[in-house]
Parts: sequence; structure tokens; C-alpha cells
Amino acid sequence: MNEYKIFINGNFVDGRGGIGEVINPHDNSILAKYHIASREDVDLAVKSAREGLEKWKNLSINKRIRILQNLSKLLSENLDKIAQIETLNVGKPINASKTEISAGISVLEFYIGAINKIMGETIPTLPGHFNYTIREPIGVCALIVPWNYPLMLTLWKLSPALACGNSVIIKPASWTPLSALELAKLCKEAGIPDGVVNVITGPGNEIGSYLVSHEGVDKISFTGETKTGSEIMKLASNTIKRVSLELGGKSANIVFEDADLEDAINGSIWAIYYNSGQSCEARSRLFIHKKIYDKFLSEFVEKTKKIKIGNPINKETQMGPLVSKSHLNSVHKYVEKGLEEGAKLIYGGKKIDSKDLKNGNYYMPTILELNSTENICFKEEIFGPVVVVMSFESEEEAIKLANNSKYGLAGTIWTRDVKRAIRVSNSIRAGSITINHPLTAIPGLPFGGYKQSGFGRELSLDAIELFTEKKSVIYKFDETPVNPWNL
Ligand code: NAD
Repeated sequence: MNEYKIFINGNFVDGRGGIGEVINPHDNSILAKYHIASREDVDLAVKSAREGLEKWKNLSINKRIRILQNLSKLLSENLDKIAQIETLNVGKPINASKTEISAGISVLEFYIGAINKIMGETIPTLPGHFNYTIREPIGVCALIVPWNYPLMLTLWKLSPALACGNSVIIKPASWTPLSALELAKLCKEAGIPDGVVNVITGPGNEIGSYLVSHEGVDKISFTGETKTGSEIMKLASNTIKRVSLELGGKSANIVFEDADLEDAINGSIWAIYYNSGQSCEARSRLFIHKKIYDKFLSEFVEKTKKIKIGNPINKETQMGPLVSKSHLNSVHKYVEKGLEEGAKLIYGGKKIDSKDLKNGNYYMPTILELNSTENICFKEEIFGPVVVVMSFESEEEAIKLANNSKYGLAGTIWTRDVKRAIRVSNSIRAGSITINHPLTAIPGLPFGGYKQSGFGRELSLDAIELFTEKKSVIYKFDETPVNPWNL
């Protein structure tokens, strides 16, 4: 069985916090073992990253570009192998793993292209003075990643961090540490100097919080739950670290009566059930205009039944298991509570117990009809294949329902009326709105949340601001004496 060590200063070394097990969610068998970092290991990783920072930020821009191009090439060459590891570890269908890793590589390439375009400004200023600004790396960045898109989200953070000249410590989620450790191997092979990229594994509430509080860390880029993000803000405040947060969501999906119904049904199914609903931007609240409600819902249910659920390693599988047994239990508890509070079960609502899937964490795609926005399944992020549906009669009502959430990550509108599409998208408080399609995370376009879905924008040039400090240099070139106090 493979045993994965932690990666510090260019070497795989023993973690001194014990050994953990990585589980395959398809059958709950042990897939691999991994070393858990101790606090001393975190100290070493920070020291290594501080030294790595000096090497990386002083490297010529062309060298940095070439090394990251090597990494991109190595990732492409190893795509099938890493996709397989990701699928066995997370339970996501193999085709999805491949697509997501390719998307991660596109993000890396986007930021490689940006490296020599990170520019400053000259700003008109006092007479006899000249000003210019430059962007400098922030320093050592802790990249804290969740389990739902392990490698892709690591690349969303690593790419701009390295493009801007920072060094990093990656902390993957404990359920899914493998692909980040595979990535570390490729970073070394690509020629990234030792110490620039470090990977430590272990429990968030132990070594994650220690890392976040560490004096040697300058910036935290975090993706995960809103309550963890809130905790991280508190911990980071002691040393005024830079923080960017990509957090939870409960995104709305609004289908108007004039929508292309077939597109809207197919797109809405994908928008909730992709990755078994374990997506921050999952469109988990479906609002359907009253005039088309019955027809839409019955076709939505019929098509939901056709989703190919199975072992994620099979090419034809569209939906795999949930990431862990405890997560499956958490999803099911939400459904039970929602039903107790008056939701009507339209489809699903239980674990799949067929012969070939019964040992895994498979949950049926689930549809709950609601008559109250107070229901727990309306309010909370379930993070599983569970959609709540409600009808609406007017545009105003749809907007009100969409905005009735503490989250504000994304939203979708299905309509053929261009004016309405713009009006409604302007009224929804969320970071990304898609009109007549469900694709939200597109390399090059800003991605991030309003409200309790976080702050900061990744995936786009905006991330350059998240990983740099702006310095203003003021130069006096005239001959007047410098004597402000007339001494
Ligand atoms: P989580 O918050 O439990 O964990 C995320 C990471 O933080 C893990 O690596 C974990 O070990 C670490 N961590 C936990 N406690 C910590 C602490 N006190 N200090 C430092 N690190 C700590 O989230 P999860 O369950 O892994 O992921 C699911 C969540 O992520 C969902 O809420 C989902 O919406 C969110 N998410 C958001 C986005 C986005 O871009 N907005 C993308 C993907 C996932």
C-alpha cells in the first residue's frame, strides 16, 4: 500500500504527528496511508518557505515562466495517473477528474501568461516629484484547500501565488491529501527550487489553525466552509495576515416561463448533481415559474432517474459516491430534518443499497418540494445531491427568494427575455450569474462570493491583487531644498 509523506524543502519526509488512512469512498476500503504533520513540522515548512521565497522572488521572470511551463507540461503528461488517484480518493467520476485537472492546467497557463504583465503605474503627483508603483509578492502563503475539488482548487491558488513570486505551504483536506502530494513531486521535477512549494497534511483544527496563526506566514488563501473561514479570520487577525476566503453557497436557479425547457432541465440537473452536489456553486435552490411548474418538475424527476450512478472509475459513470461515510450521514440528516419540518419528498432521500454499491457512500439524487423558506434545507448548505424546489409567480418574488440566503456565491437564470435576464442578474446578490447555462468556474473569469460566501476573486487577473502588495515609490527630482521645518 502506498504511504505518502509530507513535502518540505524539496523532500518527502516523515510527518511526526502520526499516520492517517485515506479511504476509497466507493467501498470504504483503505486506499493509502499518509503522514500527519506535527507542529514542529509546520515550523519546518514555514522556515523552508521563507528560504524558498528569497530564491523564487529573485529569479528572473523568464526563468519563472519556463519552470511553470515545465510544471504545466508534466501535469498534462501525468493527467491520467493523477485523475485516477483523484477518482479513487474523492469518488468523482473518472471523466470529471480528467476534465477538472485539465481545467486546473488551463488556470496555471492563464497565470503563466500573466507573469510578465504584472505591471505598476505612474501617478501624477507633487511638483518636482515622480511616482511609480510596483507589485511585490506578499511572502509565504498558506493555501488551505477543501476535499471536493482537491487538485483543481490547489491549482487555482498555487498558480497565481507562484506567478506573483510567493512561496507556499499547501494544506489539503485530510480526506483527500493524495493529489497535492503527487503535485509536489511534479513541482520538484519541473525545477521549482526547494522550499518554494511545501505540502503538509493533517487535521485542520490542529495543524491548520497552527499554520494560520504562525508568525512566519504572511497570507492565507482559504477555500472551505463559512464557519471555518470565520475561525481563520480570527486566527489570522493576531498578526494582520492577508486573507482571502472562498466559502459556502446555496445558489439559486430560476426558471422563467419562457425558458427553453429542455436546456433548463438538462442544465439544472447538472448544476445540482455534478460532483454529487459537493460543489460550492451547486444550484441547490430551484425556483420554477408557476405556469410551467408541473411540467418542468415531472420532466426534471424523470431525467434525474436516468443519471448513471456507479463506481466512479467506470467511464460511463456520471455520479459517484459522497466523499465519506460521515458526510453521507450529514447529508441524510439534513434531508430527515427537512422532511420533519414539512418538506415533501419528490424523489430520492435515501442511501443506495444495491448489491454493487452498498459498501460505498452512495446517496440518491434527492428532490424536496418546499412550502417554507424557514425549512433547514432551504437555509443550510447540505453539500450533497439534494435540491429544494419552489414555485414563484412574479419576477420580484423570484429575486426575493434568490436573495433570501446568507450566502451569495452564484446564481442561474433561464429565460429568453434579454431585458429580464439583465434586470434579474443585476438584482441578485452573488459573485457569478449564469444566464441560460450552468457553467460558473471558467479560467480567466472572476470567481468568488458576496455575503457569507467569502471575499476576494480567484481564477482571474483579480487574483494578482490577492497575491501581491502594491508599493508606491516617490522620487524627488527637482533642485529645491528639503527642509520642511525650516530648520
Ligand atoms: P472545511 O472548512 O471543513 O475544510 C477546508 C480546509 O480547511 C481543510 O483543508 C481543513 O483541514 C482546513 N481547516 C479546517 N479547520 C481549520 C482551521 N481551524 N484552521 C485552518 N484550516 C482548517 O471545508 P470542507 O468540508 O473541506 O469543504 C467543503 C466546503 O468548502 C463547503 O462549504 C463548500 O461550499 C466550500 N467550498 C467553497 C468553494 C468556493 O470557491 N467558494 C469551493 C469549494 C468548496
